[in-house]
Amino acid sequence: MRLSRYFLPVLKETPSEAQIVSHRYMLRAGMIKQQSAGIYSWLPLGFKVLRKIENIVHEEQIRAGHIPMLMPTIQSADLWRESGRYDGYGEEMLRMQDRHGRDMLFSPTAEEMITDIFRAHVNSYKDLPLTMYQIQWKFRDEIRPRFGVMRGREFYMKDGYNFDLTKEDALHAYNRHLVSYLRTYERMGLQAIPMRADSGPIGGDYTHEFLVLADTGESEVFYDSEVTDLTFGDRDIDYDNVAQCQGVMDEFTSRYARTDETHDAAEFDKVPEDRRRVARGIEVGQIFYFGTTYSDKLGATVVDKDQNQVPVHMGSHGIGVSRLLGAIIEASHDDKGIIWPEGVTPFHCGIVNLKQGDDEADAACEALYKQLSNAGLEPLYDDRNERAGGKFATMDLIGLPWRITVGPRGLKNGVVELTCRRTGASEDLTPDAAVAKVI
Ligand code: ATP
Ligand code: MG
Ligand code: MG
Ligand code: MG
Repeated sequence: MRLSRYFLPVLKETPSEAQIVSHRYMLRAGMIKQQSAGIYSWLPLGFKVLRKIENIVHEEQIRAGHIPMLMPTIQSADLWRESGRYDGYGEEMLRMQDRHGRDMLFSPTAEEMITDIFRAHVNSYKDLPLTMYQIQWKFRDEIRPRFGVMRGREFYMKDGYNFDLTKEDALHAYNRHLVSYLRTYERMGLQAIPMRADSGPIGGDYTHEFLVLADTGESEVFYDSEVTDLTFGDRDIDYDNVAQCQGVMDEFTSRYARTDETHDAAEFDKVPEDRRRVARGIEVGQIFYFGTTYSDKLGATVVDKDQNQVPVHMGSHGIGVSRLLGAIIEASHDDKGIIWPEGVTPFHCGIVNLKQGDDEADAACEALYKQLSNAGLEPLYDDRNERAGGKFATMDLIGLPWRITVGPRGLKNGVVELTCRRTGASEDLTPDAAVAKVI
C-alpha cells in the first residue's frame, strides 16, 4: 500500500475523551471513529488488524476441530422467552419491534439460537460430539461503554458452543477450548492467563476467564506468579487426545489464579508470600461448561445407545475479538505509539522515503516495495511529500515492526537504514540485506 493512496486519518492532538492509552492510540492512528457511545466505524487500518485477529481465531478454532457458521444479529424474542432469559437479561439487551409488532432483539450472545438449530437437526448420539462457532457482531447496551473498543456496545465476538452426550465428553470440549485459546492468544503476542471465574446463576466450577495483565484492566485478579512463567509454545497437540488436553488444562490451571469474584483469601495465603500477586487484568475470553441448562429448557435431546431421550451437555466459549485490539495495544506500546506483534500487524514493514521526488530515492523505494510484496509481505510505503520527522512520527504511531528508511545520502554508500520498532535499534544495510532481514 502506498500511503498517498491510503486512508489513514492520523490525529496530531490527543483526543480528550480517551482515558487509556489503547483508546488514545487507536483514535490517533486513525483506526476507529466513534459514531455513538460504544459504537465504532472501523477505518481501514483498524479493520485490517481486526481481520488479522479474526483470522487467527478462525485458524485455531478450525485446528481444534470446531466448525464455523453464522447466525443472525437480530433474533426473535420468542426463543429467549423459552429459555427464560428474555426478562432475565435486563437492560443490556437491546430490544426492538418489527413492523408487525413482533418483539425482536439484537443478540448479546447466542446460546438459545444455536440450541434451536441443534434441536431442529440433531437426533442421535451418533452425531455427537459437535462444536460450532461463529464470529459475529454482538450488542450489549453497556451501562458505561468506555475505553474505546474495550467496552463497546457493539462488539465483535467469537462464540462457540459444544454439544456432547456426557459430562466427560463436554469437559473434553472445555479443555479443547482452553488449549485452542492458549494458542490463539500467544499467536497474537499476548499472555492471557486462564483464571477461575464466577459461573454466575448457572453454577458449577467450570468456567475460566482469560486475562491479560494490564493496569488499565477492569478486573482485579489474584495469582501465583508462577502462572506467568507458563507458555504453550509450539507444542504438537492432538485435540482428540483426551489425556493430552487434560494435561494442558491441569498444567495451566493448577496454580492459584482467580478473579475477584472467586478469590479466596485463605487459599491465596497458601501461595508462598513472595509469589502472591494482586493485579488488574483485561478479560479477553471465557470458557464455560453449563451442563444441560439450555438443552433442558429448549428440549435439545438425542437418543442414546439404549434408545433413551437424553438432554445434551453443553458449554459456550467466547473470545472478545474487537476487545483484543485494545488489549494488545495496552500490552505492547511505548510513548511514541503502538508496537504491533508480528502476528497481527496491519503491515509488516514501513518504507520511508526521505526525499520524495529524488529519482534515486524513489527508484530504491519502488524496488524495495516490489521485493517485499513479491515475498508475500505487505509493506506500507510512505510516498507523501512530507517532512521526514512527520513520516517517522506516523510510522512510530502506527507501530509496524520494521521500518526501512531510504535517503540519497545512504544510497550513495549503497545502504538503507533498517529500524526495529520494538527495540529501536537501527542498522545500515544494503537494500537486499534489509529485505532478507524483514522476511
Ligand atoms: P465483561 O465482564 O467485560 O463485561 P463478559 O463477561 O460480560 O465481559 P462474555 O459474555 O464472557 O463477556 O463474552 C465473551 C468475551 O466478549 C469477553 O471475554 C470479552 O472479551 C468480550 N466482551 C464482552 N463484553 C464486551 C464489550 N462490551 N465490548 C467488547 N468486548 C466485550
Ligand atoms: Mg459483561
Ligand atoms: Mg466478565
Ligand atoms: Mg465473561
